[in-house]
Amino acid sequence: MAENLNLFTSTQEVIREALTKMGYDESVYELMKEPLRLLTVRMPVRMDDGTTRVFTGYRAQHNDSVGPTKGGVRFHPDVDEEEVKALSMWMTLKCGIVDLPYGGGKGGIICDPRTMSMGELERLSRAYVRAISQIVGPTKDIPAPDVYTNSQIMAWMMDEYSRIDEFNSPGFITGKPIVLGGSQGREKATAQGVTICIEQAAKKRGISIQGARVVVQGFGNAGSFLAKFMHDAGAKVIAISDAHGAIHDPNGLDIDYLLDRRDSFGTVTTLFENTLTNSELLEIECDILVPAAVSNQITAQNVDRINASIIVEAANGPTTLEATKRLNERDILLVPDVLASAGGVTVSYFEWVQNNQGYYWTEEEVNEKLEKKIVSAFNQVYDLAHSRKVNMRLAAYMVGARKSAEASKFRGWV
Ligand code: NAD
Repeated sequence: MAENLNLFTSTQEVIREALTKMGYDESVYELMKEPLRLLTVRMPVRMDDGTTRVFTGYRAQHNDSVGPTKGGVRFHPDVDEEEVKALSMWMTLKCGIVDLPYGGGKGGIICDPRTMSMGELERLSRAYVRAISQIVGPTKDIPAPDVYTNSQIMAWMMDEYSRIDEFNSPGFITGKPIVLGGSQGREKATAQGVTICIEQAAKKRGISIQGARVVVQGFGNAGSFLAKFMHDAGAKVIAISDAHGAIHDPNGLDIDYLLDRRDSFGTVTTLFENTLTNSELLEIECDILVPAAVSNQITAQNVDRINASIIVEAANGPTTLEATKRLNERDILLVPDVLASAGGVTVSYFEWVQNNQGYYWTEEEVNEKLEKKIVSAFNQVYDLAHSRKVNMRLAAYMVGARKSAEASKFRGWV
């Protein structure tokens, strides 16, 4: 049978398995197999050349039994309904794993921001908020940045919502600039969370971070900060990549130099000759492999050539279910995306809490609270995987789905 590369149906498959393992009946799966709500919007936007273009966007709200839904907005040409739905389901799992009072949400607009001016991006961002304003808000559904959206876009969106609401509403969205109520530590939060998971996984496997060989696929927000944190902790980052290729030095790369040279889309390998391909990068012998770029990178095709002791998924969906099974059989410790990349939403939650109380924390306070949440989540998932003899992905889904399943039951929905 062909391997399932569809993120939506493979997510459904693991949710079903997780709920069954926990003893929930079919009605809970029926509720959780899709978002409760999916709004499709079409937005006319005036372009710089005077023409009008109509963009399509989505907002999915997976489950709001625990509290408001929460999740990023992605601007990308490949956005589609299924992807937004799958991503909203992952957000429910992430929020459950780090125990946040949220369910999952996600949004996206089909567009290519790399070809748009700042003015066009601003008009599109504002149009999106007007289009979805009925179903979002600080106590309903709280957006955030995702692929190709940033703090400037969050600022425009917050401003537009505040005009509609006729209140200054910083709690409407997270990932804002600090002066508009953003949180210290938000920009690096995903990489911080991944780093904490690597430290915990390395401890379990008796690997010292000092001198550990680390390979990172992707050098954007998640990958580049992660490489920097690993480098600063004494690890040897021996290979990194971007969409154009990979670079490798067995003695360790100069991460500060690469960080300095990368562009805002996370491209740096084009500055070098004789680069490796991304598939060659994945097969380099190392202690810790971090896929931090795109989905479906470790599949049945290449999994047997993966040469790492620990894999920590910073990206969403980089390993297929078949590959997860085979890595588990080879006793390679895989820390799944829904746990490893939950640092971003955790600090987004901290930002919302600070907005609600109007009192702001230092970066040290944020990092301390983040560490507590991620360490506790990691250990809960790790211990469950051992006690129930399941892989870390299934254990993470079990921990992640439980809160929404329980809340839905208490509310009498199922
Ligand atoms: P980004 O856009 O900042 O960077 C993406 C990086 O991946 C760039 O270096 C790009 O060149 C590279 N890339 C793109 N296509 C590639 C390909 N086919 N092969 C190899 N490299 C490729 O994105 P990001 O924010 O760093 O996100 C990376 C991954 O982490 C995504 O899967 C995202 O969903 C996930 N993630 C990010 C966050 C966050 O807060 N940034 C949070 C949770 C999950």
